[in-house]
Amino acid sequence: MLKFWFAIPLWQRVIAALILGILTGYLWGPDAASIKWIGDFFIASIKMLVVPLIFFSLVSGVAAIGDIAKLGKVGGRALLIFVITGQIAVWLGLALGTFVKPGLGIDTSNIEMGPVPEPNDSSWTDMIISMVPQSPVQTMADVNVLPLIVFALLVGIGILMAKEEGEPVAKIFDSGAVIMQKVTMIVMELTPFGVFALMAWVAGTLGFDALTALAKLVGLNYLGCLLIILGIYSVMIKFIARLPVIDFFRGIADAIAVSYSTASSNATLPVTLRCTQRNLGVSQPVSSFVVSLGATINMNGTAMYLGLATLFGAQIFGVDLSWGDYFMISITATLGAVGAAGIPGAGLIMMALVFGSVGVPLETIAFVAGVDRIMDMMRTTTNVSGDAAVATTVASMTGEIDRAEMISADDV
Ligand code: ASP
Repeated sequence: MLKFWFAIPLWQRVIAALILGILTGYLWGPDAASIKWIGDFFIASIKMLVVPLIFFSLVSGVAAIGDIAKLGKVGGRALLIFVITGQIAVWLGLALGTFVKPGLGIDTSNIEMGPVPEPNDSSWTDMIISMVPQSPVQTMADVNVLPLIVFALLVGIGILMAKEEGEPVAKIFDSGAVIMQKVTMIVMELTPFGVFALMAWVAGTLGFDALTALAKLVGLNYLGCLLIILGIYSVMIKFIARLPVIDFFRGIADAIAVSYSTASSNATLPVTLRCTQRNLGVSQPVSSFVVSLGATINMNGTAMYLGLATLFGAQIFGVDLSWGDYFMISITATLGAVGAAGIPGAGLIMMALVFGSVGVPLETIAFVAGVDRIMDMMRTTTNVSGDAAVATTVASMTGEIDRAEMISADDV
């Protein structure tokens, strides 16, 4: 029995669990919430890996790259792709909202209002300051990914500058990275169970009334995300990275299933790292740098949704938007996506920032809150696929990918 279980590649077990979970939740109904704890246990287990995995892999990665200029090249290319794809994503959301008009003709009386979050009034200078880890230990305790990346980069650079004297510590970090990859492998065996439980919970407790009332918005959210994944990312993989698109998606199947069921880029981070390194053959330095950075700042699904949702709100409340407003949305939605934490519902909170910039009433958030989870799941999958796609593309541009590894990708 156990032999049979392990003979099936993990990604196939995970995808099967996802489908079975949806069916189970649909048949079982709201009582399926009773097994949600299995999903929470799984999320807690992968979250446990985030800090040590990023810290060890990133420090050892920077030290392994060996020269700071190369690191700048990798980072610069990744940032450029983040910005370009982010802009395409927001304008895609704006186009879908403008042409399909999801906010027109909605019967708002069918929708249960959720809470309206407080607008986040921290300025961009606060955001910059918060990237510096005032206490690295506190940063780790709070699982604050961005300042952790900054600290790990600096430690890696310090090791390079220390030359021979830095070598013993570099060896410790190399060994720590390998150990954490093994621990990730153990925890990943929980994935089918966690994914099954989370999907059963979501499918069993979904509010069908709200879903029907907001079907157009939810449908557009899915369509926009699929266009980003199949359009932008596939094109990047095929034409810039010049790799087989099907193999790419098969390689990240675990990350797709985990991001969809957890709705958290941060919680999926260890899985994305493992998929890009082990299944796609992206080198450890590039994957640990690009994927960790991407999990916090590269959120194209969220950017697209913020654009779409702003038009939705404007249409419900009859707010006229000018071209100037569209540009404003493209800027605030990009900032919102960069600033959103990789946790469930982060995009919902960022709506306040975008809505406020063009005078769309914040009550819109209350209308969509009830169905946010189902949209968040797809946004997160888009965000995570984007991190893997950018890491693969940058690795291929800088010769940091083992193509043989990718073609034979099989996650057994
Ligand atoms: N949950 C998303 C993520 O973790 C962010 C969002 O809410 O859009 O990537």
